[in-house]
Amino acid sequence: MLKPKIIFADSFNLLDDVRKQFAALGNILQLTLDQREALLQEVSDADLVIAEYAQIDETLLNRGRKLKGILVYGTGTNHVDLGAVAGKGIPVTNTRGANAGAVAELTFSLMLNCIRRTAVAHRYVQGANWKSGDSGDLPDEFTGIELSNKILGIIGFGAIGRRVAGIGKGFGMNVCFYDPNLHGKLSPEVPARPCNDLDSLLQEADIVSVHAPLTPATCDLLNAHKLRLLKPSSILIVTSRGGIVNEEVLADMLARKEIAAAGLDVFRTEPLEKTSKLLTLDNVVLTPHIGGSTREAVVNISRTLIEQAAAIITGKTPINLITPANV
Ligand code: NAD
Repeated sequence: MLKPKIIFADSFNLLDDVRKQFAALGNILQLTLDQREALLQEVSDADLVIAEYAQIDETLLNRGRKLKGILVYGTGTNHVDLGAVAGKGIPVTNTRGANAGAVAELTFSLMLNCIRRTAVAHRYVQGANWKSGDSGDLPDEFTGIELSNKILGIIGFGAIGRRVAGIGKGFGMNVCFYDPNLHGKLSPEVPARPCNDLDSLLQEADIVSVHAPLTPATCDLLNAHKLRLLKPSSILIVTSRGGIVNEEVLADMLARKEIAAAGLDVFRTEPLEKTSKLLTLDNVVLTPHIGGSTREAVVNISRTLIEQAAAIITGKTPINLITPANV
């Protein structure tokens, strides 16, 4: 029997033994993100496509007449036209939760960097600027603040938002969240209180952390009007998706010290454009979309993907089915 054709539409990390399991399950075609034309040609006889960032749109779906499933590597499904896929009756899955711990920990790495100026202090020492043993001679900017007793406002209280809440509690933070899909559905052990609306969270929080997906409803969610609700002392952390926060307004506000600092792992355009004002500021910490990149996450994602692929190929229902309604 002809083996199913499985396209890896971009070059994500997989465990070696899971790569072998995929090779046993089907004929694998490895593409890279810039091979859009090849993807459009090769999808015509493909059974499965696995994509982390590659666009899965109507053009591709119209060509993929044999497609039995789309597997998203990671959680964000903003590169998939979910309406179009649903219209074709093709199942879409993601690996929700598999890298939640990784993203939650990077969130705190960015947060701690913002409040203790770790990256700046590192450059200060490496640049041989540390010339006096008197702590009073150090620049004032190295007197940070502590997380304990600060209000952490989480936007999007899913797998990652909840992990962030748990870690925040561990730091002694007072955690609140805004998530329009969760009214009244939380169990009492969840360590956070709901905020009635986004505006109150933005006005109240000392540190705001964004964990909502990028959807038509969240695109530009933190626009100029919303960002101006933040306190001048506040810190904004974004590890979910660029496009949710207006980067130009944010950069201007950071430059004018209208908010204290920001830590960003994701950007509207990736890689971040060389012309971005964010690159010129010293009250930002920027990372190249590495939130979900840990060895542990690769293990979890690899195992989830092979399970989902095997289920779809053998006609079973895979775990983590995504619909336009449950994003
Ligand atoms: P999840 O689906 O478990 O949770 C997302 C939550 O956001 C849900 O509870 C949903 O109700 C909520 N939400 C939806 N619309 C909202 C809105 N308008 N306002 C506030 N909340 C809203 O997803 P997750 O696993 O927590 O991941 C969240 C996002 O993080 C993903 O969509 C992905 O884009 C991003 N992510 C980034 C990285 C990275 O490497 N930086 C890695 C993994 C995931």
